[in-house]
Parts: sequence; C-alpha cells; structure tokens
Amino acid sequence: MSGHRAGFVAIVGRPNAGKSTLLNALLGEKIAIVTPKPQTTRDRIVGVLTLPEGQIAFVNTPGFHTGKKALNKHLIHVALSALQDVEVVLMVLDISRASVDPGQEDGALLEAVVASEKPAILVLNKIDKAEKNALLPLMQAWAGKHAWRAIIPVSALTEDGLGRITSELMSALPVAERLFDPDTLTDKPMRFLVAELVREQLMLALGEELPYSVAVEVTGYHERPDRPLIDIDATIHVERESQKPMVLGRGGDTVKMVGSAARQEIEKLAGKQVFLRLHVRVEPNWTRSARGLKKLGYEARS
Ligand code: GDP
Ligand code: MG
Repeated sequence: MSGHRAGFVAIVGRPNAGKSTLLNALLGEKIAIVTPKPQTTRDRIVGVLTLPEGQIAFVNTPGFHTGKKALNKHLIHVALSALQDVEVVLMVLDISRASVDPGQEDGALLEAVVASEKPAILVLNKIDKAEKNALLPLMQAWAGKHAWRAIIPVSALTEDGLGRITSELMSALPVAERLFDPDTLTDKPMRFLVAELVREQLMLALGEELPYSVAVEVTGYHERPDRPLIDIDATIHVERESQKPMVLGRGGDTVKMVGSAARQEIEKLAGKQVFLRLHVRVEPNWTRSARGLKKLGYEARS
C-alpha cells in the first residue's frame, strides 16, 4: 500500500450487534457507551483512529428502527444519512443471532448498504459465543448477498480479528491527507461524552426498570485553573414523577452508585480528578416532543 489513506467509515448494524463495543475496541478508548439494552446510542459519534499509514474516522450510528415516537424517527434519519457521507461501510452482524436469511431489520439494512454503492465490509461479530459450525454457512450465505470487499469474523469483546478490519479498511479508503489533528479521538465535546457515561451507568443500574427515555444533560462543566480537577453538574431527566424514586433509590443509594461509577469512567477519559453532582428532574413526555429533543441537544426532525 502506498500513500497515506484517510476517510469516513460508517458502522451500521442492528441494535446490540456490538457496534459501540467494536468502535471502542478499534480505538482502544471508550467513547461510545455499551449496555445490554438496545438503542443505547442516540446520536452519531465520530471516533478517529490515527495510524502512520492512514486515518480512519468511524461514524457510529444508532440501529435502524421502525417506530412512531419522535425519537425513533430521529434515530432512523441519523442512521440513514450516515451512509451518504462516508467512503466505506462496515456492517456488523451478531452471528449468535443472525441467520442465513436476513430478518426484516438486517434485510432493510443490507438494502441500504447495497443502495449506497459504497465499498462495504461485513463483520461477523461475537464469534466467542457463537457455535463453531454456524460460522461457515453464515459466511457462505452472506457472501452471496453483496459484493463485500471482505467478510471478517471477529469478537469485539475479546478483540479477536480486529487487526484485519483495520487493514481492510485502510486498503479500501482513498489516498488522502489526514482529516483530523492526530491527537483527536472524537468530534464530540467532553460534555456530551460525560452525559453519555452517566446515562450508561443509569441504564446498567436500573436495567429494565427504566425506559430508554431517560436523558442526561450536563448543566455545569468547569475545569479548575489551579489543579487537575473538573467540577461537573449533570441533570437526569425522567418522564414521570413515578420514575424519580427509582432513579434515586432507597436513601439516594442508586443515584449515588451511578454517580460514583460514572465519575470513575469520566476520570479515566479525562485523565483528571472529577467532582460529579447528579440532579434528578421530571420532564414529562420528552421523547414525544420535538421541543424536548431540542432542549436536550438532539435536533428534532419530522
Ligand atoms: P450496539 O447496540 O450495536 O452498539 O451494541 P453494543 O456494543 O452496545 O453491545 C451490545 C451487547 O453485546 C453488550 O452487552 C456487549 O457487551 C455485547 N457484545 C458486543 N460485542 C460482543 C462480542 O464480540 N462477544 C460477546 N459475547 N458479546 C459482545
Ligand atoms: Mg451502540
């Protein structure tokens, strides 16, 4: 390979396929939150991998969904438009759930990938938990569905096979100069990443108890000029009065635990000490209201 390569790569796949895990593993840093619940990722995030031979800007997109709520419409729009602006597509399949015939969601996604006419690489994820003899028939079946540049079995969790993704991507990207400063890890401001890390811990703490409509807004972010310390205030918006005690927990135990876990993650990312204060607020029906979306930093679309 000659010449420096650079470009944008969309990571697409059904909810829970392992896109965020893969992105974090490829970058070696946690910028996308991961939970066992679908629809964890609400907004697109660019993650930048800078290597001597080239620079890959990954666009992590939310899963494709059909639904009536404003938030769902927003998700679909973000996911579909992501394919327009990239050089290469990485489609991620969870092979422990995928079948030889794509279901409705994978089918729709495949259609979008084919229609985009972008070079595409198929990633068969979760080989660590799939049955050994399920892999070959899946590879053969999916090989016939599109002119993939490559089909790569990996485990994003154990980081098996990831090197091949990077090298295939490099060869698929155009010869180009760097797009970002080599120190750039993500295009998202720290405040966004902080809100996401709090939301992740909330989802992990509450599991099925709390719908995904919970939103976190960073209302204060101040770096101390005199020492490596960041003061952060974050508000947790819930939709109903009845959800507030769930988030708080007995004697405030849950929110305390969430705050402590999130603080540790933020400190890892920031490389500084963090004081994190969490507040809980009831914000009725925000997922259904365009105003609610806008207020919390998601651009509303019709
Ligand atoms: P996304 O919705 O596509 O972004 O998926 P996530 O990255 O959030 O992952 C969804 C779930 O699958 C999480 O519980 C991950 O830990 C898990 N997961 C992701 N990759 C792998 C993998 O390679 N092997 C296994 N066993 N689990 C994985
Ligand atoms: Mg995700």
